Amino acid sequence: MRTQVAIIGAGPAGLLLSHLLHLQGIESVVLESRSRAEIESTIRAGVLEQGSMDLLIQAGVGHRMQQEGALHHGIELAFGGRRHRIDLTELTGSAITVYAQHEVIKDLVAARLAAQGQLLFQVSEVAPEGIDTESPSVRYVHAGEHYHLQADFVIGCDGFHGVSRPLIPASVRQDYQRIYPFGWFGILVEAPPSADELIYAQHERGFSLISTRSPTVQRMYFQCDPKDDVNNWSDDRIWNELHSRLENRDGWRLKEGPIFQKGIIGMRSFVSAPMRYGRLYLAGDAAHIVPPTGAKGMNLAISDVRLLSQALDDFYQKSSSDKLHGYSEAALKRIWRAEYFSWWMTSLLHNFDDTTPFQQQVQRAELENVVSSRALSTALAENYVGAF
Ligand SMILES: Cc1cc2nc3c(=O)[nH]c(=O)nc-3n(C[C@H](O)[C@H](O)[C@H](O)COP(=O)(O)OP(=O)(O)OC[C@H]3O[C@@H](n4cnc5c(N)ncnc54)[C@H](O)[C@@H]3O)c2cc1C
Repeated sequence: MRTQVAIIGAGPAGLLLSHLLHLQGIESVVLESRSRAEIESTIRAGVLEQGSMDLLIQAGVGHRMQQEGALHHGIELAFGGRRHRIDLTELTGSAITVYAQHEVIKDLVAARLAAQGQLLFQVSEVAPEGIDTESPSVRYVHAGEHYHLQADFVIGCDGFHGVSRPLIPASVRQDYQRIYPFGWFGILVEAPPSADELIYAQHERGFSLISTRSPTVQRMYFQCDPKDDVNNWSDDRIWNELHSRLENRDGWRLKEGPIFQKGIIGMRSFVSAPMRYGRLYLAGDAAHIVPPTGAKGMNLAISDVRLLSQALDDFYQKSSSDKLHGYSEAALKRIWRAEYFSWWMTSLLHNFDDTTPFQQQVQRAELENVVSSRALSTALAENYVGAF
């Protein structure tokens, strides 16, 4: 079997790359270890930056996002019993759309299948070979049969725990990492939205986030011990915790409803560089992770594959490898800015184990500065909508 580009992983990075390559007349095969039903139902990210929205629309896969996604022109920062609005559109001219990642996945899977794209689910034993030669390949098992797929390039879009990144020798790879001493307890709730826009709340009991998924399903998070067990948290205990952290003086009330999913996620900042070795290229979570506070993970996956699709287009249409050679450096520039923003938002809004009373006061003063200075609000807004 032969293709031009072998893509490992059908997350937002792998699927969008395959779709963009198809629009450019470049063949690819996507190998995914999970089932279609699983990837289309895993609840993860939900915020799309302006640039991500624009790319999905240009690529012809933004129709449902435009119809069903919620365009948000601002976010709120809550602290000290008050909510403060950051007007993203007034400050930057751009907005965000809240549209669940698994809906983006559904749209991309539908587009690949409609174009008779080669998208294989439930593959196992995926093993790239010869990545430091000009004829790499990938061995895998599908429906009990062993296959050997020859390609010009292998793209690792297989997430943080995938097989691709470890293939880059330790002697050329540098990993940068920070693990945070807290996690996020996330719930999905059947209820109407509590607010028109996302609320990021800082409180002495810890951070919380009120987000939405649809007019009837809401996503809420609160800072927790990453080693805690969801079984320790009854619905009543969760609502009490959220109410305490979101207490306010303006009469606003959180809307409760049946909780139908609970989970705890760890928080990590991670970058692996370079994002290329020979004919292997990495994109998305395979190369970097951000804590979700800045809502950047899916957006970075999208911006990586935008660059990679342009570089592969130049290679096939203009016989130029310049952009391929510059891919890692160009992608990392944006990634580090998003890493910085995600770390900053996390530090601004969370309680750290070793926070002293002095640091608490400084954190509060920084929040006051952000909401009262147009320059600082603009900097937050620019980073949030991805205007860099
Ligand atoms: C709770 C939560 C909330 C988040 N919120 C946001 C947000 O608001 N905004 C935002 O932008 N980001 C957010 N993120 C991050 C975002 O979900 C990820 O950054 C995004 O999924 C990265 O996409 P990806 O395609 O690189 O990787 P993934 O989505 O992880 O996809 C990788 C795919 O590769 C497959 N795979 C792995 N190994 C193999 C193998 N060996 N062979 C074949 N297939 C393999 C996996 O099954 C998976 O389908 C959030 C994440 C979490 C967990």
